[in-house]
Amino acid sequence: MSRQRELTDILNKWAYEYYVLDAPTVSDKEYDAFYDELKKLEAESGEVYPDSPTRRVGGEPIKAFVQYNHIARLYSLDKSVTCEELQAFLTRVSKVAGGGTEYTAEYKFDGLTVCLTYENGEFLRATTRGNGVVGEDVTAQVLTIKSYPMRISYKGTLEVRGEAVIRLSVLKKYNETAAEPLKNARNAAAGAIRNLDPRVTAERRPDIYFYDINYLSDGEPLSQEQAHDFLVKEGFKVFPYFRICRSEEEVLAAIDEIEVGRKTLDVLTDGAVIKVNDAAVREAMGYTDKFPRWAMAYKFEAEEVTTKVVGVVWQVGRTGKLTPLAQLEPVELAGATVRKATLNNYGDILRKDVKIGSRVLIRRSNEVIPEILGATEHTDDSREIEKPTVCPACGTPLNEVGAHLFCPNRGCRPRIAAKLDHYAGKNAMDIEGFSESTAYLLIDKKNVRAFSDLYRLKAEDLKDLEGFKAKKINNLLSAIEKSKTPELDAFIYAIGIDGIGRVAARDLAKRFKGMEELKKAAYDDLIALENIGDITANNVVAYFADGENLRELDALAEVGVTPRAEEAPKGGVFEGESVVLTGSLAHYKRSEAQKIVESLGGVCQSAVTAKTTLVLAGEDAGSKLEKAQKLGVRIIDEAEFERLIGKN
Ligand SMILES: [Zn+2]
Repeated sequence: MSRQRELTDILNKWAYEYYVLDAPTVSDKEYDAFYDELKKLEAESGEVYPDSPTRRVGGEPIKAFVQYNHIARLYSLDKSVTCEELQAFLTRVSKVAGGGTEYTAEYKFDGLTVCLTYENGEFLRATTRGNGVVGEDVTAQVLTIKSYPMRISYKGTLEVRGEAVIRLSVLKKYNETAAEPLKNARNAAAGAIRNLDPRVTAERRPDIYFYDINYLSDGEPLSQEQAHDFLVKEGFKVFPYFRICRSEEEVLAAIDEIEVGRKTLDVLTDGAVIKVNDAAVREAMGYTDKFPRWAMAYKFEAEEVTTKVVGVVWQVGRTGKLTPLAQLEPVELAGATVRKATLNNYGDILRKDVKIGSRVLIRRSNEVIPEILGATEHTDDSREIEKPTVCPACGTPLNEVGAHLFCPNRGCRPRIAAKLDHYAGKNAMDIEGFSESTAYLLIDKKNVRAFSDLYRLKAEDLKDLEGFKAKKINNLLSAIEKSKTPELDAFIYAIGIDGIGRVAARDLAKRFKGMEELKKAAYDDLIALENIGDITANNVVAYFADGENLRELDALAEVGVTPRAEEAPKGGVFEGESVVLTGSLAHYKRSEAQKIVESLGGVCQSAVTAKTTLVLAGEDAGSKLEKAQKLGVRIIDEAEFERLIGKN
């Protein structure tokens, strides 16, 4: 096999792992190095394979969209919004099919429907649904999306159907820097695909979830389950949720599951799709002039609505950062009443053109408080939101750092309350019964300021607090007492170093094994850890260079708070080893291999450094392997790894 063919195959495999399976096995850097090499070979040979990944970039803008007649009509689905309508559909099906018909249940995504055509095993073209009979050719645009294969094993003519969407997290990221934020996720997806400039498509990073086969030239018609399996087998990205329902009860249960599940999805959905599974039953039921009779979209409430902004309050967080929170006219959104929504910072207010008195579009978000996407309409009494110059809580003049405003006063009341609340939280010191309102009470009445003050509280101090009876006092004090021996990682998380979440805290605990060692950690030691980036590494160093922080840590030690370092498994084969994984393993996902290394005493690093003692190199290992060779680090392959862990 030529090097060019080999590179094309490897890059396609990596793209499949990254974009379709969501399980990357190499870093972006390794991918880029191979990609650059392929581009060079293509330039030299003058040949670009039909399935080359270099074809999947945004090309030159096109003049106009070319119309395309679909091989088979792309039907839309009949919709039901009430249980009665859904029940009527199920009854119609059972009349034709008799009892025991199987159904399938899937999410209905709110994006733009696209149709991909393959011939002789090669991707040929992508089109929009259009009116179902005639669509538009969007091949250049869809080529920039990587959630489908360029080559498949099926050799007949094939048309598959999918929904192009933009994930909410991707949209959020895009909007953080975009001159013109994209308000609506559905319009953003449609606008990305139906854009004459494929570079715009690429920039907005849409994704496609494939869910059906629209045309198959050879072979029997497939059931929905077979179509789903076909898509998976050929390397198309499908959404993980796919249910076979063997009764009407199971259909209703699946719809419930979808309605709950959609609230935490990173993609906009507007319903559930219920289809008859069996191809013969489908044929017997046929089509109306608009819809298949054997499928139904059950629509949920909208995930985006408009409402009016009635005011803005600026909240002070534990780092002193001010976050504007919009007060809204109450509105129903995805099954809940919404009264407030976040705006990230003052710049965000300006970019989104949000004013008090204006109507705004809000969207359900993965977090508890929804996000304002932008203003839709201003009224005569709309007025600008003022940028505060002093802290609304303590009156201290604010600092402006980048896009954010900060209250620099460490004694600022809401800052302390948020810090204490975070410290006592479930994932931190886990002080049961301690809430933000407890924090405010203790700050206002008992002069509590620091974490260590909590441990000096006595029962008689708390007696005069409103709502504190003997039992409650007892519970709180024993919960505080119990928190004196936290796991080290929980403690590191609890003290609230900027940017250190639970995962990063665990890395720090594993690597440094104690607060004294962590205090002395250098930037280079920190950045080498898997979940610590440049900014966070600097935050950690800055935190332990601060006299006030160090005094508070001493005070905590004095009152008896002694974090327990997690005992690294003793005698494991990787004890004392700093391990880097690179390339793909045949029998383990990267995360699985990491867990095994850690369970046998090793510490995983993201990059090869002078501290690295061992590199586990799988197939197609790239630059990390080269660096390890240069540094003379011990390198093992998968077979050796399996031997070490006792598999062989
Ligand atoms: Zn303040």
